[in-house]
Amino acid sequence: MLRLDDVSVRFGGPAGQAALDGVELDVAEHETVCVLGPSGSGKSTLLRVVAGLQTTDGGHVLLEGRDQGGVPAHKRGVGLMFQDHQLFPQRDVGANVAFGLRMHHVPRAEQDARVRALLELVGLPGAARRAVASLSGGEQQRVALARALAPRPRLLMLDEPLGQLDRSLRERLVVELRELFRELGTTVLAVTHDQGEAFALADRVVVMRDGRIAQSGTPLDVWQRPADAFVARFLGFDN
Ligand code: ATP
Ligand code: MG
Repeated sequence: MLRLDDVSVRFGGPAGQAALDGVELDVAEHETVCVLGPSGSGKSTLLRVVAGLQTTDGGHVLLEGRDQGGVPAHKRGVGLMFQDHQLFPQRDVGANVAFGLRMHHVPRAEQDARVRALLELVGLPGAARRAVASLSGGEQQRVALARALAPRPRLLMLDEPLGQLDRSLRERLVVELRELFRELGTTVLAVTHDQGEAFALADRVVVMRDGRIAQSGTPLDVWQRPADAFVARFLGFDN
């Protein structure tokens, strides 16, 4: 359903450093792919390109076979949860979660029901009227997750969705998200630095290095047979 064909992004002009360097990636319908890699390897840039928030210096992004060149972000039918949340600080929690639903003219009663269910899912029941500024970082992260889930996009992209949460909450959410994605048939592209999370969530793992894909495979494959010394080191193996 998603295909990246030789996609490159250079910051600072054609001579600049490549944040993405000829990336080839296919994500199948209903697949959950987790992107791992060191800081600065291009993970967030990859998601922003697919979302239509970052222009490319080469290559093509295709969604369901259609080239997205020139298609604006809001017409792509994809959802993105940002690494830094980017909540609307002047709106309350409920309005933040309902944002995409209002854009899609979902009826008010349905909006309210979905907001309530999602706030419950992320462990913030009854928080709809709270001010965003009064929330902790982890609570804001959970609101951002609920906001990204709300419109049920065909392709959902999550950038470190659970990074600020404690272990028990993270473990519960991984299980419930997997269930939800299966139920809704959502295709997911998620960045994480937590290998346990990638293992629990992913059908396939992609490891990035310097704007390129160093390895792509099932979690078991990647762990048992790292493609090279870089991947092995990154996964924490010594040899
Ligand atoms: P992290 O794990 O720290 O979030 P990342 O893998 O998401 O890292 P990116 O944010 O995609 O990395 O950045 C990839 C490279 O592109 C980095 O070297 C970064 O400094 C550079 N970069 C990203 N955005 C910009 C920008 N707007 N202007 C200039 N350089 C940028
Ligand atoms: Mg990032």
